[in-house]
Amino acid sequence: MKTVNYKNIFNEDIEVEYDENAPCRICGLPVEHASMGGTDVCPWCDCGKYRDGTDQTFMEIVYKNNRLRKKAKEIYEKRKSLDEQHSVTKIFYKIKRGS
Ligand SMILES: [Zn+2]
Repeated sequence: MKTVNYKNIFNEDIEVEYDENAPCRICGLPVEHASMGGTDVCPWCDCGKYRDGTDQTFMEIVYKNNRLRKKAKEIYEKRKSLDEQHSVTKIFYKIKRGS
């Protein structure tokens, strides 16, 4: 486990512990280091690069973004149906990702 410092929305320092061997949610390789994108996106994917330093192409980035958007929608729908079944608060739906 490693730790990284981020600022929260109130500009306060927060320390986050993460598993450096957990898979990056974009490339699937171990994240190794946290990035500005968070502890589940490796620094290479965060910068649009492969680990050999080459750039990811525009279409590869579009494909990944579409895939992530589709996955996020699936999670949202699953969560929504679970919440309807269990009448859990709907506040989670107000959290939006930057486009
Ligand atoms: Zn990655």
